[in-house]
Amino acid sequence: ITALENLEQFCNNIDANNGRYNAFLEINKNSAIDCASNIDSRINNGETVGKLAGLVVGIKSNINVEDFHITAASRTLENYLGSYDATVIQRIKEEDGIIIGMTNMDEFAAGSSTETSYFGHTENPVALGRIPGGSSGGSAVAVAADMCDLAIGSDTGGSIRNPASHCGLIGFKPTYGMVSRQGLMDLAMSFDQIGPFARDPGGAALMLEVIAGYDKTECTSLDFKIPNFTNSVKNCEDSIKGMRVGVVKQFFDVSDDKIVNIIEESIDKMKEMGAEVVELSFDYIDLCLPTYYLINYVEFFSATRKYDGRKYGNRIEDVCGEEVLRRIHMGSYISQKEFSGKYYKKALQARSLIKREVNKLINDVDVMVGPTVPKLPHKIGTTLDPLDMYSYDVLTVIANLAGIPAASTPAGDVRGIPVGLQIQSKPLDDAKIIGMMAALD
Ligand code: GLN
Repeated sequence: ITALENLEQFCNNIDANNGRYNAFLEINKNSAIDCASNIDSRINNGETVGKLAGLVVGIKSNINVEDFHITAASRTLENYLGSYDATVIQRIKEEDGIIIGMTNMDEFAAGSSTETSYFGHTENPVALGRIPGGSSGGSAVAVAADMCDLAIGSDTGGSIRNPASHCGLIGFKPTYGMVSRQGLMDLAMSFDQIGPFARDPGGAALMLEVIAGYDKTECTSLDFKIPNFTNSVKNCEDSIKGMRVGVVKQFFDVSDDKIVNIIEESIDKMKEMGAEVVELSFDYIDLCLPTYYLINYVEFFSATRKYDGRKYGNRIEDVCGEEVLRRIHMGSYISQKEFSGKYYKKALQARSLIKREVNKLINDVDVMVGPTVPKLPHKIGTTLDPLDMYSYDVLTVIANLAGIPAASTPAGDVRGIPVGLQIQSKPLDDAKIIGMMAALD
């Protein structure tokens, strides 16, 4: 089918269902139609087109795209119009991806449910009545509800993998530094990474190949050779034979039994395909959430000082929601001179320890596998206290603390509610994860 026909189908689905699911906060059909017609006519003229030619893409509302509202789902930036393209957006456009619109999210990406958006919650289209997970819930739902081919999210402590798990999709958080963060609004910059949502491993591989790579305008960007992810999809069955798969006992101890059963079935499948399963133990799991949140609060506090209402937007403390305000207050408190040695330094020490231990574990195997999220998504309208909300993240924050690549891929469902398998690997071994996902697909 042509790019225009493909786009039309998605636009019809958006018209029919976005009112209910609230996946997109803004769409621009006209610019997408221009873009699709241009691609079709170049194809008709026999001209070469980019790797994403005609694929329709949704973008999380914390990534700058020219002429779209980049609100981070906050009243702070409700009228803020993007004036430039983030590096990932430039690359998507260069490869002829069609950007259809901006997706819903937790305010400033600080959440795991997409309920804290100033523009209302997003609903899970697979498990109706439940949260889609978050914070990139809108991007996940846009793909899961057939409103676009691929979507882009950001992952600070699980925000790509968590909604991918709850919506039955692939979500990929690359190695820290593999994808440029230039143009992404910081939640906690030492953890943040941009990555794709896709229905299949081939889609994720394609998008990763487009967005990965060195960016001289971003100081944490790594200079490395971009792996051939699409080849890893093609050769997946050979590569899984003899692969050493680490299974960490504590990842299962903290998870719901029904989720554990599904993940164990996936592990059996890996064994049948010739993988070797190695049991591992990680003793610092209880340290991960406190360490992650402490650092998150401090970095977020610092990142939000520019939203003082003078340069653009509203003063953040005057208009933001409860969770964002909690993080600002906590970050400010922890940063005060007299406490810095007590809390922040301790958190940084704990982070080094976790990073060292995780690297030790992963150096012994090719990949580590387990559940992505330890519990099922709650029903919209249930009020969770902050600690219950944070407990969704216990298995995903590990990769961000350590800087390693991690992805979620569909493993099964509990009475129709999707459950994701998390696969983690060594830094810059992202292609191994793609290979494993493709072999299981
Ligand atoms: N739920 C985690 C948090 O609130 C992760 C969010 C994210 O990855 N953006 O910090």
